Amino acid sequence: MSKEILVLPGDGIGPEIIEQAVRVLEHLREKAGLDVTISQALVGGAAYDETGHPLPDTTLAQARQADAILLGAVGGPEYESVERELRPERALLGLRSELQLFSNLRPALMYPALTDSSSLKAEVVSGLDIMIVRELTGGIYFGTPRGIRTLDNGQREGFNTLVYNEAEIERIARSAFDIAMKRDKRLCSVDKANVLEVSELWREVVNRVGKQYPQVELSHMYVDNAAMQLVREPKQFDVIVTQNMFGDILSDEAAMLTGSIGMLPSASLDAQGKGMYEPIHGSAPDIAGQGVANPLATILSVAMLLRYSLDEAGFANRIEQAVETVLDGGLRTPDISDNGETIGTNAMGDAVIERLLLTS
Ligand code: NAD
Repeated sequence: MSKEILVLPGDGIGPEIIEQAVRVLEHLREKAGLDVTISQALVGGAAYDETGHPLPDTTLAQARQADAILLGAVGGPEYESVERELRPERALLGLRSELQLFSNLRPALMYPALTDSSSLKAEVVSGLDIMIVRELTGGIYFGTPRGIRTLDNGQREGFNTLVYNEAEIERIARSAFDIAMKRDKRLCSVDKANVLEVSELWREVVNRVGKQYPQVELSHMYVDNAAMQLVREPKQFDVIVTQNMFGDILSDEAAMLTGSIGMLPSASLDAQGKGMYEPIHGSAPDIAGQGVANPLATILSVAMLLRYSLDEAGFANRIEQAVETVLDGGLRTPDISDNGETIGTNAMGDAVIERLLLTS
């Protein structure tokens, strides 16, 4: 049965990069038999301008219906004065919580042709391929009580609550083990079990879930050590699973090992594997409308969508190989060029589709 993909272009460079990603999907549908239907809806500032809300009910209903969602980016300086609840970025939080997208996948993959873009030595990062699985809907960012209060002595005190229950830990652990099974079958759970009770429970539950995945080699690491190991010897990792705040920090650190923000896709999944896929970058208002944005992070988000929500690993591999071939051939958008020779957003989309044609 045909799978349904909802496309949400959003703001800034969102529509430009999404256009190229949709062309890739349409190419696979028309030329290679990928069975998908593609629909589109408003989100973010574009939705606010049209309907007065960044996540209209109709968009949310379509998102619930779809098998997977592909999002461009939201936000822009023109919305900075809009009240907080109606800002474009609220649409992302709304989609994540309404659809229960608790498992955030952030790959850090080093393309051979871009090894020199990393701030680390080539031998440390060449061949790097890490997947960070970050818990996205719990932990200290959501725990209550939270706030700023005034003490009897007149001093103000800020406070937040770090809380995870067993069910929350179990589902993110399961998600990470499932992903490890599709990769090199090595999972490192990152915590701070020497200090935090939450981490003690985390470790216990992850070990328990691990018994159901005997093929996966499970290890544990304290977060301070993990931050260090990521820059010392990043290739030791295959899949990392961790709580919301640790994942927020470590996934940015890992992403930057690979050099460019315009290259990195991400996914947020629910318990059934339905997901929202998007580049990690924002709407880049400084280059919007110029036709120079790098569409590869969005095209690679399509590959993740096919692998994790549609179970179409073959098509996912083909997209990833096409991107690698394009980079090997020296084609670069301005953000990843080091010699001044560049092509635009459309031409990069053309190049990927051309390589896909060759592998049809
Ligand atoms: P940004 O990621 O949009 O841009 C940071 C820098 O990277 C800019 O110089 C930009 O030109 C460049 N860049 C980003 N993506 C690129 C691409 N594909 N190709 C080439 N260059 C690219 O971050 P920002 O400037 O801090 O934020 C801009 C807006 O995006 C803000 O409104 C912010 O709230 C929003 N934002 C949205 C998301 C999202 O939709 N998921 C994420 C982060 C920021």
